[in-house]
Amino acid sequence: MKYAVNDQVILKVLQQFKDYPGTFKPVNVTVIGFNVNEHIDTIEYICYVPPYETLLNSFKINEQHASYYGIKKKYVGEIGCFITTTTVIYKHTKAPTGSTCTKCDEFIMYAGCDELGIYVCRSCRENPYR
Ligand SMILES: [Zn+2]
Repeated sequence: MKYAVNDQVILKVLQQFKDYPGTFKPVNVTVIGFNVNEHIDTIEYICYVPPYETLLNSFKINEQHASYYGIKKKYVGEIGCFITTTTVIYKHTKAPTGSTCTKCDEFIMYAGCDELGIYVCRSCRENPYR
């Protein structure tokens, strides 16, 4: 598999203006889910597009996306895009090691989880009402 969930990918996006030759711009996205299509032997990745990025062909992530691609609920309503293994990119950064808090879904770098794969971040441990 080329990408994994939480990987950072900088897409090389062609910007085309009327009567001008195209220029490329970097768009920073995070892989949040994927789907393996056995029929055409390809993997479709769904990515989170942060609010400061603009991307053509992006869309609002809905409940159907969340269940189909196994995306965390917190991404529903956010902007997403699809990429495949052949999408042109500038850079691929593997997800940093760490754990995602089971309570608040925050990703904490270098945090380790217990044997059951459960991790609760410090803020949630100190404030159970968070
Ligand atoms: Zn937490």
